[in-house]
Amino acid sequence: MNSRRIFLRRAGLSGLALSLPLSQTLAAMESQKDDKILRVAIMGLGSYGSRVAEAMVNSKRAKLVGLISGTPSKVETWKQKYGIPDKNCYNYENFDQIKNNPDIDAVYVITPNSLHKPYSIRVAKAGKHVICEKPMALNEAEGREMVAACKTAGVHLLVGYRMHFEAKTMEVVRQQRAGEFGKTLFFQGLSGFIIGDPTQWRLNYELAGGGSMMDIGIYSINGARYMLGEEPIWVTAQEVKTDPVKFKEGVDETITFQMGFPSGAVASCLSTYALNNLDKFYLNGTKGFAEMQPSTGYGPIKAWTNKGPIEAEHVTHQTTQMDEMAAIILDGKKPLIPVDGEEGLKDLVIVDAIYEAVKTGKKIRLA
Ligand code: NAD
Repeated sequence: MNSRRIFLRRAGLSGLALSLPLSQTLAAMESQKDDKILRVAIMGLGSYGSRVAEAMVNSKRAKLVGLISGTPSKVETWKQKYGIPDKNCYNYENFDQIKNNPDIDAVYVITPNSLHKPYSIRVAKAGKHVICEKPMALNEAEGREMVAACKTAGVHLLVGYRMHFEAKTMEVVRQQRAGEFGKTLFFQGLSGFIIGDPTQWRLNYELAGGGSMMDIGIYSINGARYMLGEEPIWVTAQEVKTDPVKFKEGVDETITFQMGFPSGAVASCLSTYALNNLDKFYLNGTKGFAEMQPSTGYGPIKAWTNKGPIEAEHVTHQTTQMDEMAAIILDGKKPLIPVDGEEGLKDLVIVDAIYEAVKTGKKIRLA
């Protein structure tokens, strides 16, 4: 067999490709690469899991093929809706068996926050890639355990940072990196909504690991980092609680926080479960500004700069996210702003510092 033939066989190309000129063969290989699909099981068939599943229907690179849930009736409905075979359905007791299932590549953990660490580690031990919702874990120590477990298992750990793939966000980031706003010295992040049902897990310290900061404030932390393109060196924070019955010990209602960066830039942010219409990023530099409102909701995102509006087609965030995450896992693609475990850890270090600053009233140094 000649060397081209051996190369094509190894590349998995068929007899058809063997009879094509080299340029067409390479094009066939390229399209075959694009056709590689990330086969995903969703764990936690709740509100956000449902949104991700719907978005994945339109993904070119990721497909929902499996389910992990503690509620058999939900599994039945989802099986019918998405054509999932019985053999790809698990519950929280038996999902370690997923290691024997060659038809699933990755598990997307979309459970309450405190379950992210234990379930992600079990997924990694089963040899499957982990995609985990934000916040990646409850604190830095937990996050480090997750990163270590995924490294040991040789699997990817990605965090559901959907904004890292959103077109208008990326354009603002591109302009900031290109110096179009001059030296960016101020960021404002406002993240909040009025939370309803007082019995939900988001207001249960054991399951949420905190309050608004873990859920929505983390968008301002993450946003400050990607909009300024720097890592903070100090944090200060203040807590306000108007309803200590609804927001029990350890569950923050409202926190204002500030971060300082090596360039001299400062970020001033608000995280709250007590006010609506708070979804805004503002970045100001010596030559211009960018403003985004809404900045992290499901969109369409609106963004403008001192030069005018930023236009880009709205694509369902989770569809783009799953396409891009498939490319990261299957093709080794490197995103402009990372979405890996190390990125998740950076936010958790800041979350820990914010809670410490609230508790002690001190300025917490990070570097
Ligand atoms: P949800 O309550 O709607 O769903 C949570 C799911 O976890 C439910 O199906 C529930 O049955 C299951 N679950 C498993 N064990 C549980 C337990 N011990 N207690 C309670 N529920 C349990 O919540 P959600 O809004 O889907 O949030 C899930 C995760 O997704 C959270 O970590 C949240 O921060 C994240 N999230 C991310 C985004 C985003 O835009 N990236 C948006 C919403 C939620």
